[in-house]
Amino acid sequence: MPELPEVETIARNLREGNSQVPSVMGMRVTGAEVFWTRTIAQPDSKAFVTLVRGQEIRGVSRRAKYLVFELSEDYMLVHLRMSGDLILCPAGESCANHVRMRLQLDRDWQLDFNNPRKFGRVWLLEDPADLFSSLGPEPFDPTLTPEGFFASLSRRKRQIKPLLLDQGFIAGMGNIYTDEALNLAKIHPLTRADELDQEQADLLLESIRRVLNDGIRRNGASIDWVYQGGDFQNYFRVYQRTGEPCPDCGTPVERIVVGQRGTHLCPQCQTLG
Ligand SMILES: [Zn+2]
Repeated sequence: MPELPEVETIARNLREGNSQVPSVMGMRVTGAEVFWTRTIAQPDSKAFVTLVRGQEIRGVSRRAKYLVFELSEDYMLVHLRMSGDLILCPAGESCANHVRMRLQLDRDWQLDFNNPRKFGRVWLLEDPADLFSSLGPEPFDPTLTPEGFFASLSRRKRQIKPLLLDQGFIAGMGNIYTDEALNLAKIHPLTRADELDQEQADLLLESIRRVLNDGIRRNGASIDWVYQGGDFQNYFRVYQRTGEPCPDCGTPVERIVVGQRGTHLCPQCQTLG
């Protein structure tokens, strides 16, 4: 499932272009097709097609795991969920096999929402504030200080891994980067949040930022979903490395299940209590 670094990479490629495709900035939507109507979460798919036509793309950014397209009239938000991807494709060509929604753009391009497992969703809203109101802070938000992070951990009795996956606590983390950050910070995934001290909280916030930055620098991880642009999967410390040596102490990585999620840790570096 795409997490913050993968969504950030997709946003940057669309905004800035790369060696294969131009930037979408300034492109105008000349039409839209919805091939799986439930792709459009809001408004309904017919209204979406009518409203989006004629709008110009003025910005592409990210909030949590949402892609945010600033259009001339509205905001188009895309959540990729399990397996979604956005592909800028030459007009009339077939660049993907599971396209659920297509924006036809001027300059002979189309933007395809490829979504094999159909969980991804698209919103067209005048103001995204409501949709974003329940989200926690961005990990890189400079107002998220070590002291503030420690204070919010201290108010929670939940286990640290499910808490970090909770988008209302901190936005953008998923299974990969949570396991990586907890290993780097030497914190067991089942530790209660309110049992961490200030020093551990500092190290955890620093570790979260470091693994997310590393992921962004390597264009994200290409693993068990359709996005194939990154290579951070070659640099995982523990995620899906069961039985391989912990990078810090050499102890074989173990896999446990936490809240139905496969969880990878070093039993030597990450102890409970
Ligand atoms: Zn270790």
